Amino acid sequence: EDNLVEVHNVKKYFPIKGGVIKKTIGQLKAVDDVSFTIRKGETLGIVGESGSGKSTLGRVLIRLLDPTEGQIIFNQTDITTLSQRQIRPFREDMQMVFQDPFASLNSKMSVEQLIEEPLIVQGKLAKSARKQKVVEVIQKVGLRKDDLQKYPHEFSGGQRQRISIARALVLNPKFVICDEPVSALDVSIQAQVLNLMKDLQDDLGLTYLFIAHDLSVVKHISDRVAVMYLGRFTEIAPKKQLYENALHPYTQALLSSIPVIDLHADPSSVREKIKLSGDLPSPANPPSGCTFRTRCPKAHDRCAIDRPELMEVEKDHFVACHLYSEQ
Ligand code: SF4
Ligand code: MG
Repeated sequence: EDNLVEVHNVKKYFPIKGGVIKKTIGQLKAVDDVSFTIRKGETLGIVGESGSGKSTLGRVLIRLLDPTEGQIIFNQTDITTLSQRQIRPFREDMQMVFQDPFASLNSKMSVEQLIEEPLIVQGKLAKSARKQKVVEVIQKVGLRKDDLQKYPHEFSGGQRQRISIARALVLNPKFVICDEPVSALDVSIQAQVLNLMKDLQDDLGLTYLFIAHDLSVVKHISDRVAVMYLGRFTEIAPKKQLYENALHPYTQALLSSIPVIDLHADPSSVREKIKLSGDLPSPANPPSGCTFRTRCPKAHDRCAIDRPELMEVEKDHFVACHLYSEQ
């Protein structure tokens, strides 16, 4: 079996409370029936606007949040209903790198303490072996041994993200969820951190779920890319197919908003910019039928009535849109 992660029909709904007695008046469908697999050593990119449910999905996968429905298999084990105590041995295999390294690193702890902490929490290694491991990991992320005695505020944003990555890797995880790890960084620094993450993946045999809000960030690092809209996957495909033959109108619009960097590109090959009308609707009150229809330039009558399901239109390329379904 070469899948590390299998996700079957996962839903995550949050109750919406209202009124003076705070009773449940509705449900926010943050993740609404999502299924996919991630192979060992693969990077699956997940792209969506803020509010699309991508971060919630990431947290549900590693049981930082409990799913409302569905099944999560990690490395052949069903972890869906394990208690927090039962999940503890799996914690070291599943780590997360967050968007904002400043918020996720305790400013009162030295870099050494920050990186050593997960080992202490998991009860790993004797003290001298822990110190040794921390030195090894800080060097792996391109920082120096001397940096261990410093504090987070003494570093740049990119260096702080390297510290977060070191903290995530110190337990030798198999699976790392990268939740917009470069979104808060200057564009000039983004590529350095992405390259580091790619090198670490190759070196350590890691499997990544890489979350981003635009398609340009995940292009280099991903093997396959899924596009998420209002809690559902609208398209998922191997990278080449997704970038060269996007089928879903939403993916096409996202791609058209990526600036074309190649100045020598044939002007006729430059994609026409597709402007999406309106904002993302509330996941508490999604449109009927296809939830993208209120912004879709190709919406037709059927789109308000039937919800399109993901269908395989070419090998490994799935799209949820009536333009590609029969009848
Ligand atoms: Fe647009 Fe209809 Fe396709 Fe939805 S199903 S993406 S509204 S054409
Ligand atoms: Mg997010």
